[in-house]
Amino acid sequence: MVLKEKSQQQGIIVAHYGVAVDVLYSASQKIEMVRVKRNSGHVVGDSVEVKDNVLTRKTRSSELSRMDARGGVHVVGANLDTLLIVAACEPLPPPGFIDRAIIASRAANLSPVLVLNKSDLACFKDYSATIISTYRDSVPIFTTSAESGAGIDNLLSYFGENHRGVFVGPTGVGKSSIMNSILPDINLSTGEISESKKRGRHTTTVSTLHILENGGELVDSPGFNDFGLVDTTTPELALYFPGFEKAQKEPCRFRDCKHKEEPGCQVTEKVQSGEISSERYQTYLQLLEEVEMIDSEPKYRERRSRRKKN
Ligand code: GDP
Ligand code: ZN
Repeated sequence: MVLKEKSQQQGIIVAHYGVAVDVLYSASQKIEMVRVKRNSGHVVGDSVEVKDNVLTRKTRSSELSRMDARGGVHVVGANLDTLLIVAACEPLPPPGFIDRAIIASRAANLSPVLVLNKSDLACFKDYSATIISTYRDSVPIFTTSAESGAGIDNLLSYFGENHRGVFVGPTGVGKSSIMNSILPDINLSTGEISESKKRGRHTTTVSTLHILENGGELVDSPGFNDFGLVDTTTPELALYFPGFEKAQKEPCRFRDCKHKEEPGCQVTEKVQSGEISSERYQTYLQLLEEVEMIDSEPKYRERRSRRKKN
């Protein structure tokens, strides 16, 4: 006999198959498959309530989205607290990828972490030296080799209980390989995307949330190259740009300083004195132009202001 109280249950989505999701119920710790509409917008990590097989999504505590090159908006993850940005010297990330990922992550209240993978390759030494000197004052940096296993334990001990994160990075940097070495039982396919994966969309898992032995939770996500800053406002960009931290000890004269030509700007002063490199500053100006352009489109502006109100 099924008790009536049991018909309404709280849980989280732990796997997504497109037209169905697996829900892990909080009370029973059992997993049940529930049908959803194809474009439901639910993602792995969503907290849900299921009543009589109907699933309702609860308000998200965090939501990280990105825009692709054609203006399409994708949710990278919901209810996450950590963004693990994976980079390697082969293949190199697209220009600006790391900066965008850090900014979007901070704006969505997630802690960004850089994972420099493929430390066994010859090109690693020079590449990691540049990346470390650029980002060491901004984010924690881990170096790993999914191939040899070096550095994986270190990364895992940082990423402990009560953390939920997702690896992001372009295809080929080693996200699946790192996941496989952390969770040997999951067997994610690595290398080029196989034909069967492309064809079998309705049967294969779109995304899964994996629970680690130390209590941490990791979501696997497909690789992508575009991290368009769809939800980041101009003030957020000015505040969260990696490399500007040292200019924020003393605020700029104007609270809404865009660090362009405003008098009393700490950032431009530090660019002039050489404390902030002009390369960093040029990257910032490019992103500023891009964010302002997105902001001038009403549909994105509305989206941003809706998000800020919630
Ligand atoms: P993903 O697309 O980011 O998930 O990358 P994969 O995990 O599929 O890895 C892409 C390719 O890089 C595969 O051929 C892996 O064997 C290789 N690879 C992954 N990690 C490492 C590493 O640390 N060192 C080296 N040399 N190769 C790696
Ligand atoms: Zn300023």
